[in-house]
Amino acid sequence: MDTYARLPVTFTRGDGAWLWDTNEKQYLDAMTGIAVCGLGHAHPAVTEAICEQAGRLLHTSNWYGIAQQQALADTLCGLSGMDNAFFCNSGAEANEAAIKLARLYGHQREILNPAIIVTEGSFHGRTLATLTATGSRKVQAGFEPLVKGFNRVPFGELEGIRHIAEHNTDVVAVLIEPIEGEGGIVIPDEGYLKGLRALCDQHGWLLMLDEIQTGMGRTGKWFAFQHEKLQPDVMTLAKGLGNGVPIGACLARGQAAGLFKPGHHGSTFGGNPLACSAALAVLKTMEDERLEHRAAELGSKLLQGLRRNLAGIKAIKDMRGKGLMIAIELDRQCPELMTRALDRGLLINVTAGSVVRLLPPLILSDEEAQMIVQRLSDLLRDYLAA
Ligand SMILES: *Cc1c(COP(=O)(O)O)cnc(C)c1O
Repeated sequence: MDTYARLPVTFTRGDGAWLWDTNEKQYLDAMTGIAVCGLGHAHPAVTEAICEQAGRLLHTSNWYGIAQQQALADTLCGLSGMDNAFFCNSGAEANEAAIKLARLYGHQREILNPAIIVTEGSFHGRTLATLTATGSRKVQAGFEPLVKGFNRVPFGELEGIRHIAEHNTDVVAVLIEPIEGEGGIVIPDEGYLKGLRALCDQHGWLLMLDEIQTGMGRTGKWFAFQHEKLQPDVMTLAKGLGNGVPIGACLARGQAAGLFKPGHHGSTFGGNPLACSAALAVLKTMEDERLEHRAAELGSKLLQGLRRNLAGIKAIKDMRGKGLMIAIELDRQCPELMTRALDRGLLINVTAGSVVRLLPPLILSDEEAQMIVQRLSDLLRDYLAA
């Protein structure tokens, strides 16, 4: 179906931060399939884990024990401080599980119409519940009626939430991205998540963090909430978890971890041996190579380099980033920059119309990081001078 405005290129293979197209032209990937291939393309540890597992057992069923799924849950809980996990196949599905947890939590407290607070500019997925949670009319338009039970507030401030708390006794949870990704890499002030945590504690709400884009080391910590001293009740993951093998997870802690009972939720494919083996290989590689630290280091280098090269250009409204989530915001719509970058052998993304978004792999060498800075600076200077 005509669901994607595809760019005029097709890739045939990859290696680390590099991709080759059908004409053998080589590209530097600063986009990683939207924060998916954090370990780069064709990472040997992931390839080996997939091949080994494929030769042994692809799928059984969640009717049976799955050792790889148990091991993955244990590792993720150890890294995040959460108590347990439900596995699915995508980010939207992980958020669906979170939304169902919140509703169940509400019903157990005899709230018949539980409501979840969500923010403007957010992105949570394309299923009916998650597109309703998403703060973008473009994502919702044409798919009404939307799902009930969501209240929207501005991102990055607590006033709107305090106001809702005064008037609405149906609220049971807050669902939020620590940094809005699709919304344009919007980074809230320090203390925002802590403030949310305090409000949730005060009112008995679940704090549910969508770390589908910010998680897996991308921002310089394993999970973005770890930049501040707090713990969410629910956290969702997907994108970078399988380095390209589809897998999502909804992790829970405390009361939220005890809500789902057999029959409440499920997935045929979710957490199967193949996907979990890939994710385990991702986690082990990241731990061995301390890639979350590397993401922080690379992010500073990239942002510094870009700031140095692009200083003083008026059409650039802002350059910001946390780890390897980097944004250059222009004063104009610039979707054509993605094709222009392709011409120069660089994969970037433009989101929210005017924000150039970089989501490069965590395995980048210093030289490759410098090449991204150079190619992108040249491109932007030429584009904005024209
Ligand atoms: C990509 C994304 C999703 C949706 O994930 P899918 O795997 O495409 O369903 C949800 N939330 C955030 C923050 C995302 O970046």
